[in-house]
Amino acid sequence: MSLRKNRTFWVASWVCAAAFLCSVIPAAKAIESQTPQPSIAQIFPVASDVRVAGDNKQTRFILDLDRRIDVRAFVLGDPYRVVLDIPQVTFNLPAGTGTSGRGLIRAFRYGLVMPGGSRVVFDLTGPAKVDKAYVMDAANGQPARLVVELTAVERSAFKVTPANGDKVQLRPALADASSSETTGTTGPAKTADSRPVIVIDPGHGGVDNGTQAATGEAEKTLVLDFAKALRDRIEKGGKFRVVMTRDDDTFIPLGDRVKIARNNMAALFVSIHADALPKREGDAQGATVYTLSDRASDAEAERLAEAENKADAIAGINLTEEPAEVADILIDLTQRETRAFSNRFARTLVNEMKTVARMHKHPLKSAGFKVLKAHDVPSVLVELGYVSNKDDLQHLVSESWRSRTVGSVAQAVDAFLGKRVVSAGASK
Ligand SMILES: [Zn+2]
Repeated sequence: MSLRKNRTFWVASWVCAAAFLCSVIPAAKAIESQTPQPSIAQIFPVASDVRVAGDNKQTRFILDLDRRIDVRAFVLGDPYRVVLDIPQVTFNLPAGTGTSGRGLIRAFRYGLVMPGGSRVVFDLTGPAKVDKAYVMDAANGQPARLVVELTAVERSAFKVTPANGDKVQLRPALADASSSETTGTTGPAKTADSRPVIVIDPGHGGVDNGTQAATGEAEKTLVLDFAKALRDRIEKGGKFRVVMTRDDDTFIPLGDRVKIARNNMAALFVSIHADALPKREGDAQGATVYTLSDRASDAEAERLAEAENKADAIAGINLTEEPAEVADILIDLTQRETRAFSNRFARTLVNEMKTVARMHKHPLKSAGFKVLKAHDVPSVLVELGYVSNKDDLQHLVSESWRSRTVGSVAQAVDAFLGKRVVSAGASK
């Protein structure tokens, strides 16, 4: 089956990427993370400029590249989008590129969607079809160019063209959902290490920026910085093993984040996010801790869960084949216990965080977050603050705020799981 072949390919490219990163990171540590690495630029094709031309009938998208690449385009509906799957590309484009478009392309996003693969997603103004998607070689002093030509179609003539685009290639470790050996990134250590596992889940990533501050800071970067600092703090304590759902700028579907928690039999799953409030809805501030519930605790929680659950749609992923959880009474019982643990940890977390960080006026809330749905892993989602609020944003980018707040979350983890570790040790 072609699936197996693909998988081998992705595994191979993942191994290459991992080996490459390992050899580069120590030397690069001193360099500020925002600075593009020249050596990475040499390995991956570089996109240096982008243009959108045309009108509401026909629109052309052009991406300048330093070499030829393959492209596969497909169209999605509800909302209307075009997705371009390309090999991993270093996007050397000015900040803010894609926030507005032209003609049929209202806006576009781009980024890493998995090791070895990048993606560009157009948000369309209406139904359209891809007339052509091709790459031209460099010629006559012009760089290589990726060209996509779109034509508007009637709503009734619009066709979703997933072709084989509906089968999204995930990280190789996660491609097989049924494999119970699957672990995030640290498979071999699992048998030797009996410490409880904490899964830290920095929200969004890759093509999905999450919310964005008016000054440009993206949620995906703020929460990754926080998550890495939290990982380091918890690992330093030595009592727990930490697995990250992502530790780079990669998109991970929501269902995979849940799978990482379940496959690692995590003792705790902590998803890290930052919120934003549209200007017309006033100003809100402070951190909030969310747990899962079928009914949202208030309208704001409901709005937020809806926004966070859109991550898969933003990356153009169609997860129709995702199996529904088996409705069986054992799961139901486990779930009830898990929810009680989740609520207890959420309360502990709020109590610890409020000693060092500013909290929302109602800091404990619940709603239907997809990423909190592991029925056997206590899970919470922390919104660290609002990037739309000036003071909150100042905190979010501040190293000292991060360090204090990370300390309080680590403290809460300790308080919540400490007992279990002690009793596990005593029974030996
Ligand atoms: Zn988020």
